Amino acid sequence: MTDSITLSEKKLLKKIQWRLVVWLVIAFVLFEAGFAVGTFYVLKNQLAYQSRQNMEQLMLPRIHEAIDLLQFEHRDRQSLPNNDSSHELTAVWIVTDDGRLLRTGSAPLVNGAAVNQLVINQRTMVGRDKYPHFSIATISGVPLLVGAFPIFKKSHLLGYLASVSSLAEMTRTLHELYLIDLYLGLVGLVAILIMTRVLSGRALIPIRKALSRQRNFVNDAAHELRTPLAILRGTLELAQGEEELLVIQESLRDGLHEVDYLSSLVSNLSTLARMESGTMELDFQSVDLSEITQSVAQALLPMYETSGITLVVERMDQAVLRGDPVRLRQLLLILLENAMKYNLDNGQVHVSLKPARQGWLLTIEDTGLGISEEDLPHIFDRFFRSIKTASYQEGSGLGLAIAAWIIDRHKGRVTVHSKVGLGTTFNVWLPQH
Ligand code: ADP
Repeated sequence: MTDSITLSEKKLLKKIQWRLVVWLVIAFVLFEAGFAVGTFYVLKNQLAYQSRQNMEQLMLPRIHEAIDLLQFEHRDRQSLPNNDSSHELTAVWIVTDDGRLLRTGSAPLVNGAAVNQLVINQRTMVGRDKYPHFSIATISGVPLLVGAFPIFKKSHLLGYLASVSSLAEMTRTLHELYLIDLYLGLVGLVAILIMTRVLSGRALIPIRKALSRQRNFVNDAAHELRTPLAILRGTLELAQGEEELLVIQESLRDGLHEVDYLSSLVSNLSTLARMESGTMELDFQSVDLSEITQSVAQALLPMYETSGITLVVERMDQAVLRGDPVRLRQLLLILLENAMKYNLDNGQVHVSLKPARQGWLLTIEDTGLGISEEDLPHIFDRFFRSIKTASYQEGSGLGLAIAAWIIDRHKGRVTVHSKVGLGTTFNVWLPQH
């Protein structure tokens, strides 16, 4: 069998392959983007949450101090300087309700005056409820997290405690992470491109083989049909030009014979095509193989008698298994017909059925022509006919291909032993379940 496919099929396969590659790459890009955005978002929130926690930790111990300062300030607004940062440098600011700084903290890496203004501007955010407020602002390109903790006395807002911390480190970490993600994503994309190209090529191998099988099947079928059709045409032409009734009748008989052969060939071809395309459903049920064997043998007995071959069926017990009765019958017909067809004058066929390894062993032994060693590995190939037997008996070379398929679908095994001139033995093992 050649493993060739046509140009259009090649183009089709290439198209499918590229489609697979494109879809896989799109799926990868979407996954990667989703993953990157997700990690980025989670990490950003986590880091922001951590910064807020740190800030709260920093502010909480200062609340009493802030209350004292703010209360004092309220009693005597004029007596304190509005900015007292001389004695201590902290990261905490204390701001009055009207926006004066009672204490300034140390500004993180940026312009102190601008940070002070930023802290004062937090006034617009605090005072509505008693929880701390956080916001992010940028000064001279440095992202800053500003937290403000409102301080109340009897529901009256005295002022607030504020803290500022730089988010530069966090932003840098996120940026680096983003770059690493991008880099890994690009490397992954190239790797996935190469991998999908190779893997999709491999995934298409069965399709390539199926296409090739299909092509060979059509070619072989056409080839097989051509010969009987040519013979039929020849016989009809002969009959047409003939005047003698006897010769005409004989030609018509030959023609009819070819028509019969053609119909059996077409029927086998259609069976095999359905089998190979997977559209043939088997009807599995509990069957008695011994009953099927005996019934097929009985049906073939007249043909055996006509050809002078003796058919011996050993006494057999019930052999129940799960199988398709129609297909099992077909299997026996093929094997028993072959044993008769390829037998010698006054030959014998011996059939037995015995239990073996949780199944049944069907043995069909003939004393016929036998099969040569070089032909033996090919007898289950469709359209294969041994040259030695081809002229001996009519056939299409499809019977054993069908038989092999039936055995395979029943999860069975078949072995053949043969000696040229002595005979052939087919051993078919079929499991009970
Ligand atoms: P067909 O009988 O139509 O040629 P099969 O597929 O049944 O096709 O058999 C394929 C070939 O295997 C036959 O042509 C024949 O050469 C060989 N063969 C099958 N069964 C036997 C047998 N019992 N004895 C000798 N040769 C056999």
